[in-house]
Amino acid sequence: KEEYIMQSEKLNMAGQLAAGIAHEIRNPLTSINGFMKLMRSSKRSTESYFDIIESELKRIELIVNELLVLSKPQGNHISKPLNVLPILDQVITLMSVQAALKNIEITFLCPDTSLWIIGEMNQLKQVFINLLKNGMDAMGTSGIIHITADFSDLEVLIRVQDEGSGMTPEQIQKLGQPFFTTKETGTGLGFMITQNIIHNHGGSIQIESVPDHGTTFTVKLPRINEPEDL
Ligand code: ADP
Repeated sequence: KEEYIMQSEKLNMAGQLAAGIAHEIRNPLTSINGFMKLMRSSKRSTESYFDIIESELKRIELIVNELLVLSKPQGNHISKPLNVLPILDQVITLMSVQAALKNIEITFLCPDTSLWIIGEMNQLKQVFINLLKNGMDAMGTSGIIHITADFSDLEVLIRVQDEGSGMTPEQIQKLGQPFFTTKETGTGLGFMITQNIIHNHGGSIQIESVPDHGTTFTVKLPRINEPEDL
């Protein structure tokens, strides 16, 4: 019986997602269509129409690319033991260029031991890139993002704390629903993807947020002992 309920919830989610995708892609398509018609009937220069059409096509491309991340094969066959610390190091290095441009500092505090989990490296990188990017988007042109890694017997904990705009309880509730965004150029898919990847890794993510002060995301992943035969 439980299985049946889970199945129907999944169908419901797929339906919601499909409706969202249809809506998000229909808007730019309608706009492209409209401008194409205008161009056909117009004798004037249509240079600016090209710009609009191009930006609408880019938007469709962005949405489709994000959705492709979701559809990538996931499961045990691509999972292997991974040390979380070098993954975090790499993501921080990657994001520090964008951060520096906004005068944002990223700090990283971690224990003096390797932290092992089972997972897929690129997907985990995607998680931390998404969290860092959202933190940076929420901050003005200064501030610090604190990243800490920690562990218990059973879990690896990674905390990403920003000093940004924070979220209201209503926003927290909507976070992770497909296409919920407060950004002009946002897709509202990032956090859904983040959550999806973490759950596929047997983990969880917690949010604490104070409007005007900042947000802390805590990712928990099942911990394994350091493999001996690598
Ligand atoms: P997107 O970044 O495209 O908007 P997300 O799913 O990643 O999509 O995020 C959805 C919304 O959640 C964002 O538009 C923003 O309003 C809010 N949000 C996410 N992370 C943060 C954060 N660290 N601080 C403040 N708001 C956030």
